[in-house]
Amino acid sequence: MKINIAEIRRMEGSTLHYDLREQFPAVEFDGEQIVFVAPIHVQIAVTNAEKELWARGTIQSEMRVACSRCLEEFRQPLAIPYEDEWIAVGQATEEQAETALLFEKDEIEIQDRVMEQILLSLPMKTLCSADCRGLCPSCGQNLNLGQCQCREDTIDPRLAELAKWNHD
Ligand SMILES: [Zn+2]
Ligand SMILES: [Zn+2]
Repeated sequence: MKINIAEIRRMEGSTLHYDLREQFPAVEFDGEQIVFVAPIHVQIAVTNAEKELWARGTIQSEMRVACSRCLEEFRQPLAIPYEDEWIAVGQATEEQAETALLFEKDEIEIQDRVMEQILLSLPMKTLCSADCRGLCPSCGQNLNLGQCQCREDTIDPRLAELAKWNHD
C-alpha cells in the first residue's frame, strides 16, 4: 500500500487527503487465521507540519475470524483510527526515530503500519456474539444451535463427591 507524498512534502502547513484501497493477504494472529474479505480501505488526511508529516484517518475493512468460544467463523467489520507520523530520514530526533515511519523517497510503503494498527485493535478473544454459549465440553455440540443431551452428566467432580456423601 504505497502513498506518494511528493506534493504534500513541499506544501508546508497544508493538508492533503488520500484514499487508498488494497486487498491484504491473510495474517496469522495468536494462532488464528484472519482473512480480509474486503479490501483494506484507508482514508487519511496528511498534514505537513514543517518537520514532519502527520497522518490522521481511518482504516476500514471486513474480516473473517473464528469465534474463540464456539469456533464458528463469522464476518466482523473493521473500523479503526489510523494515526501516524512520517519523517524524512535524518530529520527525526532519537525519540521520533523509534516510533515514526522514516522515509527516504517520495513514495512510502504504509502496509506494515496499517497492519500493525489492525493487529493492535484485535481483542484477545473474538466472539461471534457477547452471549455466545460455546461448545459443550463433553460432546462438542455448538450450544448456540441447541442444547445437547449430556447436560446432566457434566457435573463438577467435586459436586459429584458431595452428592454421594449426602446419600450415605
Ligand atoms: Zn461463538
Ligand atoms: Zn454435550
